[in-house]
Amino acid sequence: MNAKIAVLPGDYIGPEVTAAAVEVLDCVAHRYGHTFHFEYAPAGCTAIEEKGDPMPESTLALCRAADAVLLGAVGGPVSGSKWDELPGHLRPEAGLLRIRAELGLFANLRPARLYPQLREACPLHEQVVGDGIDMIVVRELVGGLYFGPRGRKQTSGGEAAYDTMIYSQSEVERIARVGFETARGRRGILTSVDKANVLESSRLWRAVVERVAREYPDVTLNHLYVDNAAMQMALNPRQFDVIVTGNLFGDILSDIAGAIIGSIGMLPSASLSEGTFGLYEPVHGSAPDIAGKDAANPLATILSAAMMLRHSLGLPEEALAVEGAVEAVLRDGGRTGDIARPGEAVWGTRRMTDAVIARIGK
Ligand code: NAD
Repeated sequence: MNAKIAVLPGDYIGPEVTAAAVEVLDCVAHRYGHTFHFEYAPAGCTAIEEKGDPMPESTLALCRAADAVLLGAVGGPVSGSKWDELPGHLRPEAGLLRIRAELGLFANLRPARLYPQLREACPLHEQVVGDGIDMIVVRELVGGLYFGPRGRKQTSGGEAAYDTMIYSQSEVERIARVGFETARGRRGILTSVDKANVLESSRLWRAVVERVAREYPDVTLNHLYVDNAAMQMALNPRQFDVIVTGNLFGDILSDIAGAIIGSIGMLPSASLSEGTFGLYEPVHGSAPDIAGKDAANPLATILSAAMMLRHSLGLPEEALAVEGAVEAVLRDGGRTGDIARPGEAVWGTRRMTDAVIARIGK
């Protein structure tokens, strides 16, 4: 197949990890007879320096014309950087919200899988983890509390501020379908998370999810309140296959899912629009502390590229080849600093990437 992939390397370790994923995709193209065209555009601090905007229109235009987008990470050091002084809408993070909204990326998929080889990285008790954790959080990304009406007003008690959690039936329907489809391709269990005992928006959410469920008799649906869901993820994470939830709850639960599998350097993500288009990026940030040192774990971005192969390019066999190669490298003892136990040899970004490529084969 012929595919056009927009690459937004971003800042600090962003260019290092996207370069690794591009090499892996090139290897897949060679091995399986595809042609991938990579076109690059700036995002984040790099784009502010070059174009005065963290997500320039030219970058968005390149993404719109592509089959999929690969993003590294954006942002400067967490404190004391020159970009801290910029007004909110020109800060690097604002570019991320903009690209999600502009490209209609309404469904965020974050798989959280504990690799048996990295069992020690999991903070949970061995009995809780059992034979492993393997779940996906499907988070609604362009609605809910983060996009509802907000403001400030004077009240008799002084200044007040408000944000509004608002979901329409169609917004819930489309994210519910992504949840059901994702569960259908896995173990067939979907947990919808809401706060329907308190929130009106959650009562609509639950009713719509139940209606959509009638189209998926092969998927087992259950509901959890968000507070209980957070507790269950720590107490019994193996019960989860796919979780579908709104923007705010998904933001929090996907971080819990990430935390229980141990390392941020292993977590991929996909943000999907209607159809097959999607943006793929590691969950981690730009890690200025390790940039330029050949120390970044490239696996989160390589696994994000595997998600791209599956969701946007319709190449499931190739996706499995990449995921299998990552697993094999971990079995072979490949460890970057973030996943190495004390005393284990630490590999650099270059060595880890070469090992994955060697496992995929030419
Ligand atoms: P971070 O994820 O960049 O780093 C947190 C810690 O994890 C650091 O110690 C870092 O060295 C380590 N780490 C991260 N990725 C790693 C990898 N691939 N391999 C090995 N170690 C890794 O989070 P932060 O330090 O809070 O943020 C740094 C910048 O990144 C900030 O500007 C923040 O806003 C931005 N950020 C961007 C995104 C994104 O682009 N989607 C996400 C989170 C944070």
